[in-house]
Amino acid sequence: MYPSKFEHVPVQSIDDAITALKEYDDAELIAGGQSLVPLQKTRFASPDHLIDIGNIDELQYVEAEDDAVRVGALATHTEIQQAPPIRDHVHLFSECISQIADWPVRNQGTFGGTIAEADPSGDYLPVMQVLNPDIELAGPEGERMVPFDEFYIGMFTVDMAETELVIGARIPKIETAVPDAAAVGSTYKKHAERSGDYALVGIAAIVAIDADGMVADAKLSVGAVGPLTRATEAEAAVEGTELDENALNEAAAAVREAVLPDEEGPEGEYKEAMAGEFAERALQTAYERATENL
Ligand SMILES: Cc1cc2nc3c(=O)[nH]c(=O)nc-3n(C[C@H](O)[C@H](O)[C@H](O)COP(=O)(O)OP(=O)(O)OC[C@H]3O[C@@H](n4cnc5c(N)ncnc54)[C@H](O)[C@@H]3O)c2cc1C
Repeated sequence: MYPSKFEHVPVQSIDDAITALKEYDDAELIAGGQSLVPLQKTRFASPDHLIDIGNIDELQYVEAEDDAVRVGALATHTEIQQAPPIRDHVHLFSECISQIADWPVRNQGTFGGTIAEADPSGDYLPVMQVLNPDIELAGPEGERMVPFDEFYIGMFTVDMAETELVIGARIPKIETAVPDAAAVGSTYKKHAERSGDYALVGIAAIVAIDADGMVADAKLSVGAVGPLTRATEAEAAVEGTELDENALNEAAAAVREAVLPDEEGPEGEYKEAMAGEFAERALQTAYERATENL
């Protein structure tokens, strides 16, 4: 199917984008178009105006700061994945992006579009939940910064007014996640039917250890199994342990208990079981990486 008729409104600056958002009633921003265009083609979205922010140069960057990496809203998945500060300091994000769809999607899809879309099957959400970056927004009242855990309200719902846009984020380097830890490791594990498919389960884990190899702090988030789930009971089960088999089993059981799959019956049970299994694998990998960093 073709999209319904719309007016293309290209803008060259953040201010112009805000002016256009204020001016047009039935308007949508378009960045990489990887989510919006399929929705238009299937007529799940039929905006009268498409405000095209794809050429706003000031939104295209990935740059390191002291304890964070700043990512512009128009940085593509590929640009983020390949950026040295992300590979070196936010490894799980780079690992996550490498498992999104395929090259054409990763070359077009942007950080801002993905964060604003807040698709519960998307790979970003669990990673963002464990990192809790500050999301930067701009609107008629100026700019504001919101921690991800306040920005993300629920599936497809974020704290963003109709006249605002995401302009970027300040993502903490994982070594700053637990300042007193001796070493930190992280990973993103995805379970999908075929490589490049949307996730059946997506798990982000950060594990910080002390000098004796004991888990000082763990952050674990489960995506694509019903609502985005921060697995706090599982985190507590591994903290203070050397991540032995008992701790891992307890964590997996806590994850199975915490998730609420949308599917009923065997499909839901399968996702629950896989959430436990992949959480275990993620914790193990993050722990091993932390010990390598000791
Ligand atoms: C075939 C295919 C497979 C895919 N597989 C995966 C996958 O495995 N995992 C995964 O995570 N994702 C997947 N995606 C989604 C992909 O990651 C998209 O790139 C991403 O969801 C949207 O980014 P975009 O720049 O293309 O956004 P767009 O499609 O341009 O916009 C998406 C939405 O965000 C809004 N928006 C865009 N930019 C901004 C901004 N700066 N501020 C506020 N609102 C904004 C738009 O108005 C629109 O509502 C897939 C997409 C396709 C087409």
